[in-house]
Amino acid sequence: MRILIVEDNTELARQIKSTLEHALYVADVAFDGDEGLFLGDTESYDAVILDLGLPKLDGIEVLERWRAGGNRVPVLILTSRHTWREKVAGLRAGADDYLAKPFEYEELLARLEALIRRSAGHAQALLACGCGRVLMDPSSARVTLDGQLVDLTALEFRTLHYLMQRRGEVVSKTELTEHIYGQDFDRDSNVIEVLINRLRGKFCPEMIVTRRGLGYQLQRSTSDA
Ligand code: CA
Repeated sequence: MRILIVEDNTELARQIKSTLEHALYVADVAFDGDEGLFLGDTESYDAVILDLGLPKLDGIEVLERWRAGGNRVPVLILTSRHTWREKVAGLRAGADDYLAKPFEYEELLARLEALIRRSAGHAQALLACGCGRVLMDPSSARVTLDGQLVDLTALEFRTLHYLMQRRGEVVSKTELTEHIYGQDFDRDSNVIEVLINRLRGKFCPEMIVTRRGLGYQLQRSTSDA
């Protein structure tokens, strides 16, 4: 899962980025509205954390332009405390949720996780498949298989996280690549095949189906939430 942080306070941006990375998300940072608008429209993100008071272009305007252009990326806005007007303006402009500063990082993670899940239309991060019950807890970056902790690298975790959000759908190598690497990484779609095979090894081979020439499909079971 890949997140865009648009925040001009460099210290806060750095802390949010490191909190997200600790939870195995990958995050890009934009320090002003112009850059945020551009990145949000040209890169693939699973959610955006958007400050409202920004240089060059304020957060409300960035959000309005995204929505006017048909960009539906889930957006969590950061507002100042006690400014209900900001909150209302943000929600009217198309924000999906908000958080007032100062906030607890744990709450930020919980809200982000809920936002991403809601946007994918899933009630819970639980997958029942041929291997057993796979449970993912994105805020602690833990995955269990029938109650047993499964040891995953950051890339493996992000790959599984993305596939779980899109379970039942065919996801191309290119799309996966865009959602598991940040802006500054050298992307190599051949790595995807290796990652998929490692995940199959850690869970079971039938869990991820290869659709030749199209991509990968995470098995969806009837008891799936
Ligand atoms: Ca600001």
